[in-house]
Amino acid sequence: MSAYLIAVETVHDEAMFAEYRKHVIATLEHGGEQRSVTARFLIGADGAHSTVRHGLELPFAGSEYDQSFVLADVELAGPLAGDEFHLCPSERGPLALFPVSANVWRIVATVPDELGTTSPDLELLRALLADRGPAGVEASRLIWSSGFRVHRRQTSQMRAGPVFLAGDAAHIHSPFGGQGMNTGLQDAWNLAWKLRLVLQGLAGDKLLDSYSHERHAVARDVIAQTDFITRAMGTASAAAQFLRDHLLPLVTRLPAFQDRFVQTLSQLAVHYAGSPVVVGEGRRAVNVRLTLSDGGHPVRLYQLLDGRYLLLLVGGPEDETRRITTDLAARYGEAIDVRRVESLDGVVRVELLRPDGYLAFEEEIRQPAVAPALERAAARVVALLDGHLLGASGPTPDTAARSAPRSSALPPAASPSASASAPHHPR
Ligand SMILES: Cc1cc2nc3c(=O)[nH]c(=O)nc-3n(C[C@H](O)[C@H](O)[C@H](O)COP(=O)(O)OP(=O)(O)OC[C@H]3O[C@@H](n4cnc5c(N)ncnc54)[C@H](O)[C@@H]3O)c2cc1C
Repeated sequence: MSAYLIAVETVHDEAMFAEYRKHVIATLEHGGEQRSVTARFLIGADGAHSTVRHGLELPFAGSEYDQSFVLADVELAGPLAGDEFHLCPSERGPLALFPVSANVWRIVATVPDELGTTSPDLELLRALLADRGPAGVEASRLIWSSGFRVHRRQTSQMRAGPVFLAGDAAHIHSPFGGQGMNTGLQDAWNLAWKLRLVLQGLAGDKLLDSYSHERHAVARDVIAQTDFITRAMGTASAAAQFLRDHLLPLVTRLPAFQDRFVQTLSQLAVHYAGSPVVVGEGRRAVNVRLTLSDGGHPVRLYQLLDGRYLLLLVGGPEDETRRITTDLAARYGEAIDVRRVESLDGVVRVELLRPDGYLAFEEEIRQPAVAPALERAAARVVALLDGHLLGASGPTPDTAARSAPRSSALPPAASPSASASAPHHPR
């Protein structure tokens, strides 16, 4: 049964809902009938006009672009490389072409307000292509089109107590770059595993706080990048046009630029450095092939991700890595999977992957005394995880951090602040 959410109210009443510090009451409407639902958490993934965001009275700070935008999928013929997208600058506004299939392209362009209020027809799209598009390109059929106004806006936070905002409800931006959907999907990807660990009683509130910290920064960058592209491609300044038209073609041919640009637009370059639950760069782990020390066929790294943290002990003395494996499994129970992995290059590494495939911690051990260095690295992992995991026999789920130390063969954990300054060894 689908229902329409019409109101959200957060409640911070300890006495009424003793086991959790906060909860949320949502009013739903279906078939003319309203009902109230009390939930521990609520995710407002309800789009740019979010009822949830309005209910929380969260400002959606930003502004509206001066021009209107048109967007259309059309069949095109002409000299266009099917694996490239084209950004066509013009003082009358930018036009971009994205390949959708062999002969279908998505056109995005800014237009004067009077043309952007309705869905553009084939005639207007042909005129835009002739005016701003690559030479020799002909539109033969219109599949779908839309005209709309665009805003660049963001909430100051993506969490308010038990309520989370995700996707367009939390951030909207220019369509140049086509990143709206991916940004929202990655919000969901970031939040889902955190909620899961908390609901399983394996992690505390600090892990949930990291959602807003991590994703707000990513959305802020997406808004800035797409805003820059939109402005640079449509600038009316003659000096800026000269720089753009003479410098940009040189720069965009450089392989390093192309690599960086693709990584950025595809969001593969997203990282979570500075997050309260990450030590180091927080980059996305590459899906490499691994040989587990305890036997079996080689596996791809992502095959090992199953909703738990994954600690990889790559190389190192067997008795030491076995001891760390046993200790961490006892300490964090279901929250972590520890695997011993063969080192292909002889370098000993400790890598902690989050369930979403990002590295929460990584360290290469190059000291001759490997066992004590491994133990110190494991202690830094413990210090990081102790900040937000609750452990196998931890206290109630809403306790932010563990209240009592647990027995472990590992050295006493360093403080979280000490872990944050752990040396990072990029590869
Ligand atoms: C014309 C156009 C073209 C675009 N093209 C691209 C593109 O090429 N690539 C790209 O990455 N992005 C594109 N975007 C952006 C992309 O569509 C959005 O960023 C993405 O859809 C956001 O997803 P969302 O789930 O956050 O919000 P939405 O897609 O808006 O989904 C919100 C959902 O919540 C439901 N809802 C709303 N209010 C309530 C309520 N009170 N109760 C119950 N349900 C509710 C809505 O019915 C809807 O199903 C485009 C956007 C537009 C407008």
